[in-house]
This record gives sequence, C-alpha cells and structure tokens, in this order.
Amino acid sequence: MNTVYDAIIIGGGIVGISIAYHLALDGAKTLLFDRRDVGKATDAAAGVIGPYTAPSSIGYGLDALFDLGVKAAEYYLTLSEELDLDSNTYDRCGVLKVAVSEDEIQQLEEQKSLFLKRKEQIGDLSFPSSHEAKELFPPLAPIKGAIYTSKAARVDGRRFSHILYQSAEKHRLTVKSLGVESLIIESGKVRGVVANGDNFYAEKVAIAGGAWSRAFEQQLGISIPVEPQRAQIVHLSLPHVKTANWPILVTFRVYYILSWPDGRLVVGATKESGSGFNPHTTVAGIQEILGETLRVAPQLKDARLLEVRVGLRPMTPDLLPVLGRVPELENLYLATGHGYSGLLLGPYSGKLVAQMMLDRQPETDLAAFDVTRFSS
Ligand SMILES: Cc1cc2nc3c(=O)[nH]c(=O)nc-3n(C[C@H](O)[C@H](O)[C@H](O)COP(=O)(O)OP(=O)(O)OC[C@H]3O[C@@H](n4cnc5c(N)ncnc54)[C@H](O)[C@@H]3O)c2cc1C
Repeated sequence: MNTVYDAIIIGGGIVGISIAYHLALDGAKTLLFDRRDVGKATDAAAGVIGPYTAPSSIGYGLDALFDLGVKAAEYYLTLSEELDLDSNTYDRCGVLKVAVSEDEIQQLEEQKSLFLKRKEQIGDLSFPSSHEAKELFPPLAPIKGAIYTSKAARVDGRRFSHILYQSAEKHRLTVKSLGVESLIIESGKVRGVVANGDNFYAEKVAIAGGAWSRAFEQQLGISIPVEPQRAQIVHLSLPHVKTANWPILVTFRVYYILSWPDGRLVVGATKESGSGFNPHTTVAGIQEILGETLRVAPQLKDARLLEVRVGLRPMTPDLLPVLGRVPELENLYLATGHGYSGLLLGPYSGKLVAQMMLDRQPETDLAAFDVTRFSS
C-alpha cells in the first residue's frame, strides 16, 4: 500500500522549505522534492532583508508588496528566536541608501518622501551627512545624500535554509532529491505527483519551483507567467577589517554591498531579463558589478575576489509573487514568483501557504497575489 502524505511540496528553495517547515512542525506528514537545479536562486542570493531597502522601481512602490515585506521582515525576528539563529546566519544591521552621483538625487528625494509617508512601518529614519555616512560605512566615496534605517537585516540564505531543513526533518518532513515530472490529477483533484517514474500520493500539493514553476502550466491549463532572470553576484573579502557593524549599502542605481562579520562582502547584482535558463557568469556581468563597487566604495580596490555566484530569479510581470490555491483544484497551491525579494518574503509566504494547506485562514489576506490575476 502506498503512503499517502498530508502534503507534497515541489521545490526546495527558501519558499518550498519554508512551507514544509511550517507544515512539518504542525504535525503534517510532508514530502518535499528538490531537483537542486544549477541556478537555484536561494543559493546565490545576497541576503538583504527589509522592504525599506528597495526603491519602488523594483516593486516596493506597490502597497500590497510593501505591506507583505514589512510583515515578512518582522517574522524573521520570530524565526530567529525560534531557531536560535547566530549573527553569521541572521542579524539586524541596518541599511544606508546613498546617492553618489547627481543623477541619483531625484530618486533619493522621491524615496525620502515615500519613506516619510511610511514612517510608522519603517520606524527610525535619519538622513546622514557625507561624513556621518562614511563613519557608518568606511570605504564609502563622498556622497550627495543618504537615508538610514536600522531595521533592515542580513540573512545567509544557504545557512538559513539548511537550518529549516534540519529542524523540519526532526519533525515530519521527508526530502527527496528528485525532479517532479507531472501531477496526478483525477476527478478535479490532485492526488499526488510523478517523480522518477514513480507515483507519490498526498492530500495537498504545493508548487514552489522558483523560476522553473511554469513547467506545470500546460497540464493545469492556466497561466503561471514566471520567467527566469539571471543575477550574478560577487563575493569579496577584507580579511583583517571589522565589518560586523557595517550596514547594508544600497545605491540608487540599485546595487548593494552586504557585509558579514568575517570580512566577506557580497556585492551585486545583475538583472538580466531574457536570460532564459542559463545560469552562467559573464565578463560583462562581473565588470558591471565591480565597476559599480568602485564607484561607490573606491577604497575596496584592494579587496580580495573570493567567488562569483549566479542564480535565476523567478520574476512575474507585475513583480508580485503568486501565492494561493489554484482555481478549480481544491487541493493544489502555488508559491512562486518571489523575484527580487524571495529571501525576505519566503519564510512568511511559506507560513501563509502552509496555513491555507492546513485548512486555516491565512493571517494575511493574499488576494493581491492570486494567480487568477493573469487569466483575464
Ligand atoms: C544573485 C541574487 C541575489 C538575490 N538577493 C536577494 C536578497 O538580497 N534578498 C531577497 O529577499 N531576495 C534576493 N534574491 C531573490 C531570491 O533569492 C529568490 O526570490 C528566492 O530565492 C526564490 O526562492 P524559490 O524557493 O522560489 O526558488 P529557488 O531558490 O530557485 O528554488 C527552487 C527550487 O525548486 C526546484 N525545482 C523546480 N522545479 C522542480 C521540480 N519539478 N521538481 C523538483 N524540484 C524542482 C529547483 O531545482 C530549485 O532547487 C536574490 C536572487 C539572486 C539570484
């Protein structure tokens, strides 16, 4: 007799493992499939946590996304306590947004007024001078203006996902490193999935396949317009420098430098729409990132080059994730399209989708993220 799981999750990036974590800890017998594609976004991601870090051009002008981002950032504090995360995995380090050149000043001003409107959600907000900004982030070039808020945090996506895996596996999670080929659908209900030619059965199924989620479109007869966007990111090292208290540095050309206590700096990232499923590094991509690094922080010219990572962001046309039940199939759920902010949103999205899969009302309304928005 085949085992019937309470839930099957397709995809084991930050989104899939977060759903599985919440289900397994609630007692649901859960099976997670992860094909571990090269280009898995979670493994390449920088780790910037906070909607206060991103300009509206990458989606945070949209109220629904900003509000979800604020709750998701707060939820990290809960998880940090629950999982006893150390400062090499998660820490609140603040964010410093700087205008280095004249062409960034207008965006700085726009962002200031947006932030002042949302001050209640953002909390502390200050506008450091060039001198004060350099005290916060010593390698910084002279700047035209800055915004600082202390609430933003950094997370190491790989370490954090690994901790979620370990914790969920102590409860009721089983993991298989296999690709799901198709869904088993009978009489308007999903019964399970086919992987490696075998059938696996479950009461509920969730698709959290990141940039690869579209593969199920045809079988479902619905549009899931998630496209891969290649992102390259460079890791540098300043071996003898105390970087633990440096805030995340963000420019209005939408690049960032995120520092870890061991002197590792993560600088990125490219936004290569139309890349397809080609997660390789390029000369132009690396030049773009390093050029921006030296424009903003010329004193990093002697930093050591450690590695270049590359991932495929799962992008939707409107920059909002896809979260919720698939219409006409009462037991199939989607959790994908987290684009630029999957590390930020993923744990909270996972919690909300798990609540739905456990037949509970999600604590945050997900109407804005429903897949039916693409059907008209
Ligand atoms: C360079 C870079 C920097 C980033 N920086 C940040 C940041 O600072 N902050 C932030 O919030 N976000 C950031 N992001 C975005 C974030 O990484 C993504 O939004 C997030 O990781 C997406 O998670 P996911 O679980 O949906 O997808 P992924 O992490 O890509 O995981 C999807 C998994 O599903 C598996 N899969 C797919 N189809 C199947 C199948 N049929 N069967 C089995 N397995 C399957 C894949 O193999 C893969 O392992 C960054 C992304 C990149 C690439």
